Amino acid sequence: MLLLFGKAGKADRLQAPRNPASGSATALPASTRTMPPNLLGYDMSSELLPVATLGVPRIGRRRELKFALESYWAGKSSADDLLNTAKALRAASWREQAERGVTRIPSNDFSLYDHVLDTAVMVGALPAAYGWTDGPVSLDTYFAMARGGEGGLTALEMTKWFDTNYHYMVPELVHGQNFTLASTKPIDEFLEAKALGIHTRPVLLGPVTFLKLAKARDGDFEPMTLLKTLMPVYVELLGRLKEAGADWVQIDEPTLVLDLTAEEREAFRSAYGALAVADTPEILVATYFGPLGDNLDTAVSLPVGGLHVDCVRAPEQLEQVVTKAPSNWVLSLGVIDGRNIWRTDLAALRERLENTLRGTSFVGIELAPSSSLLHVPIDLDLETALDPELKSWLAFAVQKMSELWILASALSRGEKSVWTDWQATADALQTRAISTRVHDASVAARTAAVDTAMEKRVSPFAERSALQHDRLKLPFFPTTTIGSFPQTAEVRKARAAHARGEMNDADYAAFLRARTAETIRWQEEIGLDVLVHGEFERNDMVQYFGERLSGFAFTKHAWVQSYGSRYVRPPIIFGDVSRPAPMTVGWWRYAQSCTDKPMKGMLTGPVTILNWSFVRDDLPRADVCRQIALAIRDEVLDLEKAGAAMIQIDEAALREGLPLRKSDWQTYLDWAVESFRLTSSGVRDETQIHTHMCYSEFNDIIESIAAMDADVISIETSRSRMELLDAFREFDYPNEIGPGVYDIHSPRVPTVVEMVDLLEHARKRLADRQIWVNPDCGLKTRKWDEVRPALVNMVAAAARLRAEAVVAA
Ligand code: GLN
Ligand code: ZN
Repeated sequence: MLLLFGKAGKADRLQAPRNPASGSATALPASTRTMPPNLLGYDMSSELLPVATLGVPRIGRRRELKFALESYWAGKSSADDLLNTAKALRAASWREQAERGVTRIPSNDFSLYDHVLDTAVMVGALPAAYGWTDGPVSLDTYFAMARGGEGGLTALEMTKWFDTNYHYMVPELVHGQNFTLASTKPIDEFLEAKALGIHTRPVLLGPVTFLKLAKARDGDFEPMTLLKTLMPVYVELLGRLKEAGADWVQIDEPTLVLDLTAEEREAFRSAYGALAVADTPEILVATYFGPLGDNLDTAVSLPVGGLHVDCVRAPEQLEQVVTKAPSNWVLSLGVIDGRNIWRTDLAALRERLENTLRGTSFVGIELAPSSSLLHVPIDLDLETALDPELKSWLAFAVQKMSELWILASALSRGEKSVWTDWQATADALQTRAISTRVHDASVAARTAAVDTAMEKRVSPFAERSALQHDRLKLPFFPTTTIGSFPQTAEVRKARAAHARGEMNDADYAAFLRARTAETIRWQEEIGLDVLVHGEFERNDMVQYFGERLSGFAFTKHAWVQSYGSRYVRPPIIFGDVSRPAPMTVGWWRYAQSCTDKPMKGMLTGPVTILNWSFVRDDLPRADVCRQIALAIRDEVLDLEKAGAAMIQIDEAALREGLPLRKSDWQTYLDWAVESFRLTSSGVRDETQIHTHMCYSEFNDIIESIAAMDADVISIETSRSRMELLDAFREFDYPNEIGPGVYDIHSPRVPTVVEMVDLLEHARKRLADRQIWVNPDCGLKTRKWDEVRPALVNMVAAAARLRAEAVVAA
């Protein structure tokens, strides 16, 4: 037992950090004194180490928020209905946390759409286009910023939240931007919890991170230069939170784990310096998603009351902060993975914590997940269809809260105080460690036998390309699409009916074949050169493959927010991955039988499957990726054997997987490229390998893209007007490339002239023989009415270019 936290009577003093500014002891939050009900069947009456969550999922166990939002947007329910649902969700989650023994309960972690958008609204940073001048910001204005509004009003840009699959709305700031406290959401929600008898620690997005995530409207200044103007809003807000009774606030500054410039580090000092001289609650600065690294000194020198660090992504930080942080600080140790769904090895963790903390003089230790629990599903107990063994290896948000409480209890009172759970955890870890469902000797043998020859095509591109051209006899500027065609209501209805057992397998297959055949016929009719089957049999490009590979599990209710009201259920990779049987060959064969034109085999690549799943934590990600690569390689070879002359391996999420720190990029890119090559390189020279990527920011990774050595790559470029091709100014991309000419994110039908124009741009950077003509991405979210004219125009654009090229030649 760790005596530092030992005796219950001392806990009051131990847990009350000293206010570094005033030197006076801070009162304990009320929530540590009101003891939660006996949820776990234990005596929860004595004081333990505080337990924090940093933030919890907002969406509701049954996706209540999504349904309330959609109903409101559709005009089927009122603003009050929506706000009442939101309020009920907040109350339920505060109560749940209290019942699970969480003592640092957050407020203002809730959001109707996105917390970065909330922050922009809070500080009054609304672009002029939304028509707000002062006063409260209406719901409709808020949603216009999130999703666009009437009269063609566009939404703010959206982008990935650090290295998660959550997306935030990018605040847009102007030169001389004014800030003002335009929303009292943090105060309102603090008071709302208080009225329920729950004392919370409000969560704010920090000023430096807010500015770091924002963009300048015209790109003509650094948003960080607005810091001095922004700070008075934070000062005012924090003052009002204190008045309302908040003794602590959590200010999220995940920017501290990024590569920072000297000016950005200075921004931290100046921002928190401004708060230190103001009348505010105590401040806990929260960092997560990685190590502070070279920003550690900056972090520990801030004039604040405490710091949260991610000890899962960066275990070494535990010792580092304990050594470097002021001993009167609250240290929130993120020891349980907030980004993944595995049950924690509590015994190992307890030992580690005891060893690190023994003999230190820290008085304000808190236990927490590594990051907010926003990124994990809510409650494992809803997964009644998962088998009990697999379930025993997992922990979702509420289970993680309990893990933290059990850990706190074991640290303060010994593991005997939580014996049942302590034993259950140990048993689960033991079965997982030796399970043959997890460890497949043949997969291990196969991955061990991978040699670099397997990652290389037989001949260099120039030689393969000649053989491929002989075989395929395609015109210059060949036209194709990325794979999927519209997933109409009819397709989704049939899938749902089949899933519910209302449509039998034979009828469903016949239905899908009919859709596929008619789509192929239409592609022939309009004169596309290389066809696709349309992907009607696929629900999702990762799920389809995961469901056919061993080592994957799927959930029914384990939703996580991707953005706004869009949630995803990532597959769980729990074991060694292999492919029991071909996954797409039957469909490819059928599709090719409908046409004499080349039909692309269509697969999702290993890196994308990995990046869009919850990945096992007992193997390095690179090793898991290699296993997936071998499984997809089998599929590639079977497609080739069946006669496919072209096989596309989509790597939509390759760039997304880039680490937050530039110094870690190359390692990732090396194994990601290696996995792609392992997947794709087993084929003969005359088989053409395609890949597709849904983005265009290639400048900084162009060498790795080239190293993938795909014969043809299709990418997104239409929105940026071929800006991407800048990458090719200095770098001579050797293989063929289809820069997207049709923005599939918009319902707009591009004209022939527009597409010709984009292609002319491309011709300035690329040789004619390199250029393919295709849309930016798959067409599954579009309507047939949009897709038909757009592709007809695209084929016409290619024809016009061919004519010009002939004239020019
Ligand atoms: N082949 C997939 C499709 O066309 C690719 C989707 C993607 O890249 N996101 O839908
Ligand atoms: Zn795409």
